[in-house]
Amino acid sequence: MNCNCVEDLQIKIKDLVHKKINAPINEVTCLGSSFVLSNPPYMALAIPFSVRADAPGYRSQKGKLVPVHASFCPFCGVSAKPETEATAT
Ligand SMILES: [Zn+2]
Repeated sequence: MNCNCVEDLQIKIKDLVHKKINAPINEVTCLGSSFVLSNPPYMALAIPFSVRADAPGYRSQKGKLVPVHASFCPFCGVSAKPETEATAT
């Protein structure tokens, strides 16, 4: 990611939930973030898609969750890829 939206949102959510439940918040974590091993490696946001099929790991009602990385930050629209890769494509 080339922005701080996830970190900013984690802070905002921490404050919001703290005021709502009036208890200390230990940690807020974005479960949709993942580390992409490319050159250079970078953090990306992923949206899980459920795939159901007649194959091992895909047969349950929930199916198998396949993460799809967002090419752009869904919060501010900035490219999620590293600067050098984003400008080259
Ligand atoms: Zn952003």
